[in-house]
Amino acid sequence: MTATAITNIGTLVTNDPALGDGPLGLIHDAALVIEGDHIAYAGPSSGATAADDRIDAGARAVIPGFVDSHSHLLYAGDRTEEFNARMSGRPYTAGGIQTTVKATRTASNNTLEANLLRHIAEMRRQGTTTLETKTGYGLSIDDEARAASVAASHLDEVTYLGAHVVAPEFKDDPAGYVDLVTGPMLDACAPYARWVDVFCERGAFDGDQARAILTAGMAKGLIPRVHANQLTEGPGVQLAVELEAASADHCTHLTDADVDALAKSGGRTVATLLPGCEFSTRAVYPDARRLLDAGATVAISTDCNPGSSYTSSMPFCIAVAVREMGMTPDEALWAATAGGAAALRRNDIGRLAPGARADLAMLDAPSHVHLAYRPGVPLVTAVWERGTLVSANRDEAATSAR
Ligand SMILES: [Zn+2]
Repeated sequence: MTATAITNIGTLVTNDPALGDGPLGLIHDAALVIEGDHIAYAGPSSGATAADDRIDAGARAVIPGFVDSHSHLLYAGDRTEEFNARMSGRPYTAGGIQTTVKATRTASNNTLEANLLRHIAEMRRQGTTTLETKTGYGLSIDDEARAASVAASHLDEVTYLGAHVVAPEFKDDPAGYVDLVTGPMLDACAPYARWVDVFCERGAFDGDQARAILTAGMAKGLIPRVHANQLTEGPGVQLAVELEAASADHCTHLTDADVDALAKSGGRTVATLLPGCEFSTRAVYPDARRLLDAGATVAISTDCNPGSSYTSSMPFCIAVAVREMGMTPDEALWAATAGGAAALRRNDIGRLAPGARADLAMLDAPSHVHLAYRPGVPLVTAVWERGTLVSANRDEAATSAR
């Protein structure tokens, strides 16, 4: 097995408090040794184990690869005009999803796959090494199943979201659509998915419908996650905690009882905040400070989708979370890496400690704080997935063994 040492790391974020300072387990003048697809050493440069190849990081920062635990990449079509109109003053409603449903249904599998791969590559260049994505723009048995199948051929974290909105054919029969989503559509999608999700919101699915959809998925072995409390207060968060969902996503409009329930779940249900969504819809941001102070586990994700949050950039979301949601740069970095891993119930990623998967990003900056300090600047300069260099933005940045 080939071992590669990355030495002269200015700041190494391990997310392991046993390895370094604070919750991020920060180590300065650090080294990392990659053996095959995993981390063999993370610590001071002086203690690095022997390696076949050596890469000089030039005092740059190295962080765990971002874990983007919420995206919607199985779609076709374009929503530029809708965004343009919304920026001219019209509010976003869930109905805009139907535009994408029309385009997705007429798209070939090859088109869906090419679009997915384009976005995966875009995310990778920005430091994301694990991502979850959802169905939800097909809304028929065949269209949901082929979306799930396309996703499963490229990703481990696939979510069945037949319950994104009620399909247009069931406009006057929402109960009939819930029967479809909990019956034959679920049967067709479950073999490709790990998760079941529902958009629990006014204009989409109410608490009782959401409960029926999630419990049906759980009976098929899927783990629940919930689009909760995005546009208004509602039953989503409480339902997520009650069903031990891995994540309650959005969490923009929370009561004190919601915050309390998330905190009391002890990290079992992660509060996943999606700042790109509020940014792109000019909506009020979720209050991360309130959740963190209460003791909830918080993740940040892009929610990358063509309607309400068309960013694939975790660095952008970190910058917004720090500027607008009351997070410190350290908290935001943790939420975008270890937090995302927690929201996907994974402990092999989101940290850089011996035994963890060698998923990491090098920044053209001395520390991770620059991700928030220098918004909009492409600081991710090299990315490794499972120990393999998969993206390098600059020739001079640590791409050749010395
Ligand atoms: Zn979403």
